[in-house]
Amino acid sequence: MRIGLISDIHSNIHALEAVLERLKDCEKTICLGDLVGYGAHPNECVGRVKGLEIPCVLGNHDAACIGLLSLGWFNPYAAIAARWTMEEELTRSSRDYLRGLPRSRRTDGFHLVHGSPREPTTEYLTDTHQAGASFEICADQAILVGHTHVPLVFVERDGVKELVPVEGGWISYRESRIIYNPGGVGQPRDGDPRAAYAIIDTSEGRIGQFRAEYDVESARADIIEAGLPRILGDRLTLGR
Ligand code: ZN
Repeated sequence: MRIGLISDIHSNIHALEAVLERLKDCEKTICLGDLVGYGAHPNECVGRVKGLEIPCVLGNHDAACIGLLSLGWFNPYAAIAARWTMEEELTRSSRDYLRGLPRSRRTDGFHLVHGSPREPTTEYLTDTHQAGASFEICADQAILVGHTHVPLVFVERDGVKELVPVEGGWISYRESRIIYNPGGVGQPRDGDPRAAYAIIDTSEGRIGQFRAEYDVESARADIIEAGLPRILGDRLTLGR
């Protein structure tokens, strides 16, 4: 079975549609949260994910936009977008969907969280020390995380090793336990503006890393037209 793996959509419907087009041959998709925040199309993104009826977990921006996390955690631009999303945009149906998302869940033998197993919604998993702590409290063969918007893998083999997945490359979760972060669909931060996503190949026990071109300029223009901070549009063109 092939399972699409997406995270950090951030109200960017242009990027989401481009990635879903690439995943249309997958039997399933998994979403690691942050459907909303930063971008101009929160309801469209929530509606699209909801309509797919896929396993999804709550992200920190999702939590903030339904009043479950203080905006004090956010930088000023993120806070402006979160407040706009919460107070002016989100429909009742979108709010209800986000409110129903668990902070962690298991599906098909994978452990899903937005941040990390010990802080499911808020911890940024960025080093081998944190990854080691996650492996310790979690028995699953593959832990799937998002939140940093940067593709990154931790492998448990003679300690914990960190590696950056290359586009088109595959990493086994059968030989060693892994923590896999596919990067961000709607706001990549690794210097590549293309939408990042991954594909799980369960028959081979491996995960592959991919990118999708999308209409970045329209996503940027929509952010500016919505009256959101211009920098949130400009950063999409830089992948930062
Ligand atoms: Zn995010």
